[in-house]
Amino acid sequence: MATQDENHTKVLIIGSGPAGYTAAIYAGRAQLEPVMIGGVAFGGQLMLTTDVENYPGFPDGITGPEMMELFQKQAERFGTRLLLEDATKVDFSERPFRVSTADRDFTADAVLISTDHSCIDYAETVAGAPLVVDTRNATKNVTEGREKIVKA
Ligand SMILES: Cc1cc2nc3c(=O)[nH]c(=O)nc-3n(C[C@H](O)[C@H](O)[C@H](O)COP(=O)(O)OP(=O)(O)OC[C@H]3O[C@@H](n4cnc5c(N)ncnc54)[C@H](O)[C@@H]3O)c2cc1C
Repeated sequence: MATQDENHTKVLIIGSGPAGYTAAIYAGRAQLEPVMIGGVAFGGQLMLTTDVENYPGFPDGITGPEMMELFQKQAERFGTRLLLEDATKVDFSERPFRVSTADRDFTADAVLISTDHSCIDYAETVAGAPLVVDTRNATKNVTEGREKIVKA
């Protein structure tokens, strides 16, 4: 059974694609010890492709899965705790924010949503109503508050 401290983090990141890992590396290097709820489909869309040839630093190209493995190693090197679970419920109505998976509940001072096109369809929220987060404006949603979250 996890202690309460293990379930609280300064920064919680939802999604483990390039955006999520970039956020994790920045937060980790700032010693914020981020928790990443990476999703069951961890690694994001680049796990679905072969050669990535437009990314600087890889003159011979790299496969998508290889690139995501490197991203993961780099994020973990700076202290990211990665969970390969989906976020199923959030409560942004008060601080600290709450994010749940099927197995555990977290509190976080900040939540970064990096799910790209895979819109998070939260089954339940604090109001008990289904909500959809518009992930294209996720940063804005989180910083400006819950009223920016679009009701389904
Ligand atoms: C076949 C293919 C080939 C591509 N090739 C290239 C290329 O060569 N070069 C290039 O620059 N771009 C390429 N792209 C585009 C590139 O993959 C995307 O631009 C990039 O992955 C977007 O990154 P992201 O982190 O924003 O989102 P994504 O990679 O989509 O990651 C989203 C993450 O959110 C997670 N998630 C979603 N819902 C939840 C939830 N409820 N709880 C927890 N996690 C959740 C997912 O599991 C995933 O890990 C390609 C895309 C595809 C599909």
